[in-house]
Amino acid sequence: MSAATDPTRAAVRIPRWLRAPEPGWTTSADVLVVGSGIAGLTAALQLRERGATVLLVTKTHLEEGSTAWAQGGIAAVMAEDDSPEEHLHDTLVAGVGLCDVAAVTALVHEGPQRVRELVALGAIFDRGSDGEISLTREGGHHRDRILHAGGDATGKEISRALIEALHRVKDDPGIEVIEHALVVDLLQAPPGPDGQTDGRVCGATVHVIGEGQVDGVGAAHCRAVVLATGGLGQIYSSTTNPPVATGDGMAIALRAGAVMADVEFVQFHPTVLFLGDDSTGQQPLISEAVRGEGAFLVDVHGERFMQGQHELADLAPRDVVSRAIVRQLATTGTDHVFLDCRHLGTDFLERRFPSIVASCRANGFDPATDLLPVAPAQHYASGGVAVDLDGRSSLPGLYACGECSCSGVHGANRLASNSLLEGLVFAHRIAEDIARRFAADELPAVQPAPAEAGAARGAGDAAYQSVLVRSKHRQAIQHAMTDGSGVVRSAESTARTAAALAALAASADGVEGGPKSWQTTNLLHLGQLLTELARRREETRGGHVRSDHPEPDDAHWLGHQHAVRGASGSLDVTYHPVDPSRPGQPDRPPEEGL
Ligand SMILES: Cc1cc2nc3c(=O)[nH]c(=O)nc-3n(C[C@H](O)[C@H](O)[C@H](O)COP(=O)(O)OP(=O)(O)OC[C@H]3O[C@@H](n4cnc5c(N)ncnc54)[C@H](O)[C@@H]3O)c2cc1C
Repeated sequence: MSAATDPTRAAVRIPRWLRAPEPGWTTSADVLVVGSGIAGLTAALQLRERGATVLLVTKTHLEEGSTAWAQGGIAAVMAEDDSPEEHLHDTLVAGVGLCDVAAVTALVHEGPQRVRELVALGAIFDRGSDGEISLTREGGHHRDRILHAGGDATGKEISRALIEALHRVKDDPGIEVIEHALVVDLLQAPPGPDGQTDGRVCGATVHVIGEGQVDGVGAAHCRAVVLATGGLGQIYSSTTNPPVATGDGMAIALRAGAVMADVEFVQFHPTVLFLGDDSTGQQPLISEAVRGEGAFLVDVHGERFMQGQHELADLAPRDVVSRAIVRQLATTGTDHVFLDCRHLGTDFLERRFPSIVASCRANGFDPATDLLPVAPAQHYASGGVAVDLDGRSSLPGLYACGECSCSGVHGANRLASNSLLEGLVFAHRIAEDIARRFAADELPAVQPAPAEAGAARGAGDAAYQSVLVRSKHRQAIQHAMTDGSGVVRSAESTARTAAALAALAASADGVEGGPKSWQTTNLLHLGQLLTELARRREETRGGHVRSDHPEPDDAHWLGHQHAVRGASGSLDVTYHPVDPSRPGQPDRPPEEGL
């Protein structure tokens, strides 16, 4: 990556800590894994298999998280007429020139083996009459390479298989699982004798709703932390993400000083069931796989509008479809378009998409007889904690995996069904890297700095003092983010959002910490980061639309934005250009206007 250019300091100020009570208990393990989606469960199992002691914490139940909601499937090259090179190409095209080619190469080459291991572990994917695993196609893929389970319940099946594998090792004292355990902040080693610190991470503060000795806020000490906390969907009014997706891991890493990458790249799924403007929180997703099986989009007049927009028409990458819908909404003055699946028939729809059919019917629409009203809603965070090919963040001892990380696999826009695969592949890589480093006596156990252990937290220097926003402000944050940092953005809209968030930050007070105010404050900190990066990204490609910069402009596009919390709490943002002639760069896809 080329040298940082144009470092500037934004007005936003992020505290080092969330205000929280002193840790009342202490525990330790070699590795603390945070989160129980595909990334966290895989990392925990793989680490234990390699001999590390593991503490896995998750903030509600093991099953909660986006993983269990994944419908469409998991992408991997399994067919004879497919190849990793083609999967690589489709991924690079979807990522609009900003994927890390080495990361995608690892994903597509290691993915098939990781999926076979998942099958061996007990995950049951749908099979055809010939007994072979059925493969389907989704938006942006030029081959059938999506494995699915239970028709449209792929994530649920993967989650079940991984949790069962965890239960099989429940008598192993080397792996401990704590549910209802919310990580609040990271613990870091003290500065050396020269006063310098590299930010070495050596644990976390954890709030547990438990019984006996482990209850309330405590300290988990470890040699390495793996953040696998998922996405940030709850930052917007309307999202496909479950309630636990409050971006905690990203906010935690940001406060600790980790480099955050391309957080402004948010994917909006084009076909989310539209239940009215006043319907907020998690909304029902109509998977791309439905279009993969032949459903198509029509406008309010019943006209198909994706043909002629892209060679893949209704199966174009998500950003292209979302933008086409946004254009339709602007042209027709409506708030939704329709998905037509009626020709697929009741039998097929019920067999292939049982969960989607059930969720549509529960909301008053029958896909076999009704047009389904749909509109884009937040779906996926393509940016996150910047990590290398082994999942290492910029802070020694801190790893990140899955949706909370930015491995470079997705670039500016994720290709459908690549995220489950990313969690699987990179969790393995992390386990291998940690095992290698432990074997080489790297990452020795260190005690957190005394202040970090509790005494001075929340007091003293303003940069370290955290005030919390009350949970009642969550809707105001979501509204501000949807208004100006959503699918359509401009300099004016992001300024409006930044001002609204600044006002909320200023209204924060000394409310006592608790899960609700911690999560709301995480949303605020991330919203401020995302909006600052969205303001600077003056281009229209990938997941969102910049209405004031409709023309392609590589000088302001082909690069990554890195943000790090400086010592005074300010955001230091740097732009890292990508060489457009680097090997593996896909031809730029055709441009879309607004
Ligand atoms: C409706 C829907 C459909 C999707 N369909 C697909 C698909 O078909 N194919 C595909 O590849 N991807 C799909 N995705 C995306 C994919 O599901 C996610 O990107 C992926 O599952 C993320 O996995 P993860 O392990 O990183 O996070 P998650 O599965 O979200 O898990 C995060 C975990 O972290 C825990 N956690 C969060 N904060 C804390 C904290 N502070 N302390 C402790 N624990 C914490 C959560 O409780 C949870 O257990 C879909 C997503 C949604 C929402």
